[in-house]
Amino acid sequence: MSRKEELSGNLESVRSKIAKVADHDVTLIAVTKTFPVSDAQILHELGVRDFGENRDAEGAEKSAVVSGTWHFQGQIQSNKLKSITSWASVIHSLDDPRHFEIIEKVAPHPLQIFLQVSLDGAHHRGGAGLEELHSLAALVESSPTHTLAGLMSVPPVEMDPDQGFAQLAVIHTEFMKLFPGAKSLSAGMSGDYETAISHGATHVRVGSSILGSRSPHL
Ligand SMILES: *Cc1c(COP(=O)(O)O)cnc(C)c1O
Repeated sequence: MSRKEELSGNLESVRSKIAKVADHDVTLIAVTKTFPVSDAQILHELGVRDFGENRDAEGAEKSAVVSGTWHFQGQIQSNKLKSITSWASVIHSLDDPRHFEIIEKVAPHPLQIFLQVSLDGAHHRGGAGLEELHSLAALVESSPTHTLAGLMSVPPVEMDPDQGFAQLAVIHTEFMKLFPGAKSLSAGMSGDYETAISHGATHVRVGSSILGSRSPHL
């Protein structure tokens, strides 16, 4: 089987699972991290236009070759923001007001911004606590340039995904009372995107179910 046939089969399977559970629009982001540019090119040929990366260097390299909407979803490092904002048009992982202040200074174009929420308050996979969320949202909303898209979360591994996404849905509903424009919800990865969609995810970030397994640390 060629790589194109393999990716095409995987992609069709993910798309049909999404179609089965979704009763609203869902954006499928193909997470190409650790995979070569050639895979992103094949996915583009197969109609994919949304790509996700966790690292600046990889995103810069692939987005220079493959057109589409490039999403940054990794941990933000201040000194990388100038580069990240040059190739990404969506950031899923803002959790620190200082990073947004830098974005306002260095970004060469308007960005869609998701705030990453920590569901357990432990912050080990990134994410702002609930108590920080509103001030961060107000900061982004006050920007004349950038748009507050919504919330993003990666439930802690020890949490049942169904409970995690249910909790996130409640947080998002409450959040939208204060920030009614922030309608998007970025939630769900290969293991749990159907569950996330059933709890209202509008953006799913799927890597290994489309591209195959990665080495465990990336
Ligand atoms: C790696 C990663 C994904 C994709 O993970 P898969 O399990 O391969 O689908 C999604 N979101 C974030 C934040 C990631 O780091």
